[in-house]
Amino acid sequence: MEHLFSVWNNVAQQVRTARHILLLADFDGTLTPLVESPDAATLSPETRSTLQSLAHQRGLTLGIISGRALHDLKEKAGVSGIIYAGNHGLEIEGPGLRFVAPLAEEFRPILRLLHRVLSRGLDSIAGAKVEDKGLSLSVHYRQVEEGHAERVGSIFEQAVAAARAAGKVRTTRGKKVLEVRPPVSWDKGKAVDMLMERFGHAGYRRQALPIFLGDDVTDEDAFRSVKKYGGISVYVGDDGTQSAAQYNLRSPDEVHEFLERLLVQYRRRGR
Ligand SMILES: [Mg+2]
Repeated sequence: MEHLFSVWNNVAQQVRTARHILLLADFDGTLTPLVESPDAATLSPETRSTLQSLAHQRGLTLGIISGRALHDLKEKAGVSGIIYAGNHGLEIEGPGLRFVAPLAEEFRPILRLLHRVLSRGLDSIAGAKVEDKGLSLSVHYRQVEEGHAERVGSIFEQAVAAARAAGKVRTTRGKKVLEVRPPVSWDKGKAVDMLMERFGHAGYRRQALPIFLGDDVTDEDAFRSVKKYGGISVYVGDDGTQSAAQYNLRSPDEVHEFLERLLVQYRRRGR
């Protein structure tokens, strides 16, 4: 991966000449630094204000796509007038848009059941937290002692194995998180496709340029999708990491700098 700022002139050129930009970012670890507990994640006032300014630019559509539940994501981000996609894109809300992935709703009962099983199973492990996100479940173990992390994994496997084998759920993992999701073929990449159709290629805004920034395994689908449209895919983290993204930025601080640079290009475009 090339560092995004090392090719900035090319990127700036792409931004200035695009008819429309669909700017999409993951939340935790991308816009905010990763913290011990997901509850403690906060968007810095500076980043929020830059995002809000970008949201007001004509010719730019902004969205945040996260594994968090939609209501949680909206509250944590606090930027108005933008697209929010929660549960890895299973639920999306934005100006003139409200979407829940087909069939996802049908799996609420099995997820509720697994929530109970997992909560009971992980009760004895200090720091493990099972989060019910409605359309999916997360088991967070960032606060679990190093030596007990493996036990979290085996309790998780035991709890989900039968339902997964029966095709009733699927599981994914991210940074210190294990997830149970409905077995629908839907991910952040599909969400990007849908948003491109709505706000990009398919509408009157042809030649839209998608940009996606993310830091975790579940963001890889979105990187691949964005590349299909000739967009800009940015992995947030070390350039040594295996990723489908074309570029990298090292930290949420650099992401903030990128957003600032983007705003400068955008303001220039209008003149
Ligand atoms: Mg993330």
